[in-house]
Amino acid sequence: MLDVRGLTKRFGSTEVLKGIDLAVRPQELVFVIGPSGSGKSTLLRCCNRLEEPTDGSIRFAGQELLAPKVDINAMRRRIGMVFQSFNLYPHMTARGNVMLALRKVLKLPRDQARAEADAALARVGLGDRAGHHPNALSGGQQQRVAIARALALKPEVMLFDEPTSALDPELVGSVLAVMRDLKADGMTMLVVSHEMRFAQEAADRVVFMDGGVIVEQGPPSQIFGAPTHERTRAFLSRVL
Ligand code: ADP
Ligand code: MG
Repeated sequence: MLDVRGLTKRFGSTEVLKGIDLAVRPQELVFVIGPSGSGKSTLLRCCNRLEEPTDGSIRFAGQELLAPKVDINAMRRRIGMVFQSFNLYPHMTARGNVMLALRKVLKLPRDQARAEADAALARVGLGDRAGHHPNALSGGQQQRVAIARALALKPEVMLFDEPTSALDPELVGSVLAVMRDLKADGMTMLVVSHEMRFAQEAADRVVFMDGGVIVEQGPPSQIFGAPTHERTRAFLSRVL
């Protein structure tokens, strides 16, 4: 589904991705962990060209995302992204926020956009909150609106960058529950997160990054139970 090869990214003279190879298969949930500054967000952002990679290849559903003539907006529609900050418009309701994406990106007529927005909100458990503004919603609900906004566009893969890091601990579970449902529905997901318990339970594969490289990867039982690299062990001993 997503096949990253030899990906490098430099900011000025600093190389923050130093040759990343990572394939995500259809319906797989791949979890990326690693210390702050290791390049996790940059990797995700390169996957829909919010950052322009310096070199390498990213194939998505068989097409080269880094080809000069690719219609990147058409590709971005198929690659949903959810950030740590929810980036909702405060003056619009939950429904309005989701509708805006459907109207602007998919050019849907109002009635259809409204119906699809409500369906997406129901899918994240917010069917009864569609008319609420963000400030009347908890952080967990706001993040679920952001997920609904991405899902409404019917992406083929979802990228999550620390989706629960801005949330109070008691609100994290509701967002993870939505991600668990997406996984059960067969969504392909690439997730950067520090929710190690969720990783152990839901990830098909865990990738440990440090210093712009993938140090090791494997099933959660292996990465958490028997990491082979000292750097992985050191990181896990700090966070677990
Ligand atoms: P992570 O998400 O793992 O914490 P990031 O991908 O955000 O790491 O950052 C990796 C490195 O790249 C960091 O050293 C960060 O300071 C640097 N970096 C990220 N974005 C930029 C940018 N726009 N300009 C310069 N340096 C950046
Ligand atoms: Mg980050």
